[in-house]
Amino acid sequence: MSEQGPAACAAALARSQRLILAAHVHPDADGLGSALAMALALRSLGKQAWVALDAALPESLAFLPWGDVLHEVPGPYDTALVLDCPEISRTGRLAGALQACPTLVVLDHHPPTKPFGTHAWADPSAAATGELAHALIRALGVPVSGAMALALYAALADDTGSFRYSNTSPRTHRLAAEFLEAGVKPYAVAQQLFESYTPQSLRLLSAALARIQLFAGGRLGLVVLERGLIASCGALDEDADGAINYVRGLKGVEAAGLLREGEGQHRVSLRSRGRVDVAAVARAFGGGGHAAAAGLTLNGPLESCLPALKAALQAALPGLPA
Ligand code: AMP
Ligand code: MN
Ligand code: MN
Repeated sequence: MSEQGPAACAAALARSQRLILAAHVHPDADGLGSALAMALALRSLGKQAWVALDAALPESLAFLPWGDVLHEVPGPYDTALVLDCPEISRTGRLAGALQACPTLVVLDHHPPTKPFGTHAWADPSAAATGELAHALIRALGVPVSGAMALALYAALADDTGSFRYSNTSPRTHRLAAEFLEAGVKPYAVAQQLFESYTPQSLRLLSAALARIQLFAGGRLGLVVLERGLIASCGALDEDADGAINYVRGLKGVEAAGLLREGEGQHRVSLRSRGRVDVAAVARAFGGGGHAAAAGLTLNGPLESCLPALKAALQAALPGLPA
């Protein structure tokens, strides 16, 4: 059993000297923004800290104040800090290096699925891991710098859909206000996160919108992006990220799914308007996430694995009044 809670995690980090930090594969502004803010805070305490990536840094997150924090530094490290991951497998090819560290601290806001680490603080009431990172930075006695505020504001803005989703709380807004006071310009961040389309990414969005299929009387919306479509738009895989929100936003849709076809492995994003627990559906397929935003990977030919997912989503729709 690992040591639990913010005090145990802060104490473990305070004892550390040389750290590797990591978030989940297909990283977002919450995972990487939280990791960056923690790395900067740990460095301000005189520690060596780097953020490692499973793959290239997404273009959309290049605006964060990385400095030389992103680095393929050979180990060994005495401590790993894993953020925004409810299980170690979500760190992808970094999992081995992270698990090799004598101290492994986990900071997360997902409902834990397969708890791991020597020290963990998981709080599903937090809108973003960034809220918890902020609390740890304070617990370490580090003042929040402008760079940390920017990274943490991006984390909050991304995971709350610009402070719109149901996870947004008074705490989220209070923290956002603190980050603005530290100099963050909200429209500058919003432009980077939400208004940085390329002609190629808009072409892909247009193709995705044209492919929305409705089931269950319009209560289930699905989009399948076949292999080759993303390439034919000249777009990147990550350019499809925002399309799922339009599907959920369709009036009457209660559950939405977006599938990116891969070579035998297909990445699925699920979203709910609130009444359907899409994390439960995702878990049934080996995935995970939050009740309103979850994901999973399907394996095998599309025609054999897609019907099962569709049936599970349909079964998860609440009954209609008689
Ligand atoms: P996404 O649709 O990729 O934005 O992910 C939505 C939520 O589901 C995030 O909290 C992810 O961390 C989580 N998630 C996505 N894919 C998976 C997966 N294959 N396994 C577990 N959780 C996932
Ligand atoms: Mn995330
Ligand atoms: Mn998150």
